[in-house]
Order: sequence, then structure tokens, then C-alpha cells
Amino acid sequence: MKTNRRKLFKVAGVAAGGLLLARDQAYGLGKSIPISTDDAKGWSVDALLGKDSGMKVKTLETFTKNQLSIVRVTTDSGAEGFGQIAPFDADISATILHRKIAPHVLGKDPYALAMINETCIDRNLKFPWSFVCRALAGVDTALWDLRGKVEKKSVCELLGGTPRALPVYGSSMSRSITPEDEAKRLAALRDSHGFTAFKIRVGLEAGHNKDAWPGRTEQLVPTVRRAIGPNIMLLADANSCYTPDKAIEVGKMLEQNGVVHFEEPCPYWEYEWTAQVTAALKKLDVAGGEQDNDLAQWRRMIAMRAMDVAQPDVCYVGGLTRTLRVAQMAHRAGMKVVPHSANLSMVTVFSLHAMGAIPNAGRYVEYTIENNDWTNELFEPVLRVRDGKVSIPGEPGWGVTISKKWLESAERQISSV
Ligand SMILES: [Mg+2]
Repeated sequence: MKTNRRKLFKVAGVAAGGLLLARDQAYGLGKSIPISTDDAKGWSVDALLGKDSGMKVKTLETFTKNQLSIVRVTTDSGAEGFGQIAPFDADISATILHRKIAPHVLGKDPYALAMINETCIDRNLKFPWSFVCRALAGVDTALWDLRGKVEKKSVCELLGGTPRALPVYGSSMSRSITPEDEAKRLAALRDSHGFTAFKIRVGLEAGHNKDAWPGRTEQLVPTVRRAIGPNIMLLADANSCYTPDKAIEVGKMLEQNGVVHFEEPCPYWEYEWTAQVTAALKKLDVAGGEQDNDLAQWRRMIAMRAMDVAQPDVCYVGGLTRTLRVAQMAHRAGMKVVPHSANLSMVTVFSLHAMGAIPNAGRYVEYTIENNDWTNELFEPVLRVRDGKVSIPGEPGWGVTISKKWLESAERQISSV
């Protein structure tokens, strides 16, 4: 086993010169170049929030089907907005929304996002994070949509950005795929859709240093690199697999293959472990934070430089407003942000708008290459990859319309005043 791995390392090492050159040209030498912290001080989330709207939130509805729950918020003046609760077991989160979130939102000014977010967290202090944040995300994102529709601006524009096409990385979610098949499928997507970056899965999710099968990771990385060529950006995600020593060993192999981004190398709650890996790997960016939803923990992670790239998930962290707060903290620390958006539900739409506006946005938006039935026919227009880019929907609010048919086929619950 050990000999085989050494051989693979050697093969990877032979190709390393050319690959690293390509990577440097594409990404800048070494780690992400820190952003000037002076410049960062000028960007404030609170300055982006709406002022008094003169309206009050009258109803909160959830529409739940499969892994998803869509939220519709309506005001006393008839204005409405659509948002989305975090996917997966969304029926549980929808119940949390009606029981634990709605009482702090109904009757409030829909523009009072700072107060609404804070109250929902404070009043649920016995039920911290996870499901409260998953549910809060549905309300917060619906309120941003509502404001955009009232002001006839896309969310991206509300945040000071301009809707445009952004580069995406094709994100593989598969660990059951063989290295050969993964390499073939990524090369085909490069040719058909113009992707210029891909992310592959290494190790096993929360895998305690194990792999999907022995040697898969060491075979996958060079096989994919050979198939896609030296000029395609390659990212890797370990989903909390490794102890620091193993993560550093795998990370060096990734570096030798021109990988520029190593995501969640260690169990995500082990911030000190991740920080060790970040400090040890000089040529790639360690990324993380998709599961983190406590802003105080975010502050600590950023302060200790646990990672090089912050990846809040708009839905897991509790909505766009809390994502922006993470982005602001990261910006002030000179750290880039690439939100986690691992499926084609509304979360990728949310990420596109955020990435079009935040000053410390990384280069690529995450865009899954997997076909999940449960995100089909949810909204229009559907997102499309052209020349490796996806357009930020430019119409008011999130710029997409939730399918009436989808809403009618989902389970509806309503809270109102
Ligand atoms: Mg990930």
C-alpha cells in the first residue's frame, strides 16, 4: 500500500512543474492574496440594510416538498417575497419556522432585518443554531426578495453589485464514482459547458482518515488532472475526513497536482486542527465553514486564521444577512469568501447575488454538476452554464419565479397576525 502510494506521489511529482506554473498563472502565486484591510473598513453590512418600509409582515407561509421548503412572506400592503429554508429535512425546519421564528417576525417591519435576525437568535438561546438558523434563512431570504421587488432592484443591486455572468466551478458530489469515470465526466463537461474549474471529493465524509476504498484519493487526483489538463483549476473537498497529519500528507499530494483549494480537511468543529493544516500548506488555500452558523465561532475561526477561504452557506448560516456579516468579518481580516452552494435549489441563486456584490468574493461560485430530482422545476428561469459562467438573475429580488405548479404540489402551512 505504502509503496503504491509513493509511486503515485512520484508520478504526480513529475508533472508538478507544469501544473504549478498553470496554477500560478491562473490563481496568483501561493495562497490567496490578502485584501487590504484599510479598504475593507469602508464596507459595512448595516449600511446595506433597508430603512423603515412603513409595512408590517402579515403572513408567513411554507411550502414543503421532498428536501425543500419555500417561504412566502406577505405584508399588510400586499407586497410579497419568496425565500428558502435550508434543504434536507426541511419539514423539520418548516415546523421550527412556524413555532420558533414566526412569533418574532409577524407584525414587524419587513426591512428590519438586523432586529429580526438578532431577536430570532436571542429568543431561541436554548435552541442554538442548526434548525433555528435553517428556518431563519427562509424568512431572511424572503425578506430580501420582498425588498428587491418593492424597490425594483435585484438583491445583487441592493448590495451594491451589478448582475452579470460569474465564473462557476463544477462541483462533484460523488465518492462512489471511479477515478477514470470522474476524469471522463469532468473533461466532457469542460468541453460541453466551458467549465474552467472543478471540485472533486477526497477521503470520506467524517471518515476518520478512511477513503471510499483504499487508494481512491491518491489515484483520483492525478487521473483527473491528466484528463482535464494543466489549465483547469482543480479544487478538492475532504468533508471533515482527516486528522491534521493525514490532512497535511494529502494536502501536499494535492499541491503536487496543482490543486488550489483544499476544503474541510479536518472535522469542521476542530478549528485548531484545521488551523494547523492551513499553516502547514503553503501553496494551496484551505477552505471551510459551510456547516458553521454561530457568528461568534466565525469570529474566532477568522481571528485564528483557521482557513484561507471562508465558505458560509446562505441557508445553513441563517440567511443572506448573516452571510454578509461573515463576509464583513472575513473582509476585515483580509480573507476571501466563496459561499457553499452544493445544489441547484435557491441556495445557488442566493450565492450568485452575494458573490456579485461582496468586496471579498473569491473567483468562482460553487455550482453542482449532479442532477438532483428534488431541485427540478423549482423556479424559472433555470440557471445555465455558458462558457463556464452562470448569470446572476437580474430581475427584482432574487430574479427568479418559483413555479406555481411546484408550490401547489407542496404541503402548505401558514402563520399570520
Ligand atoms: Mg464542502
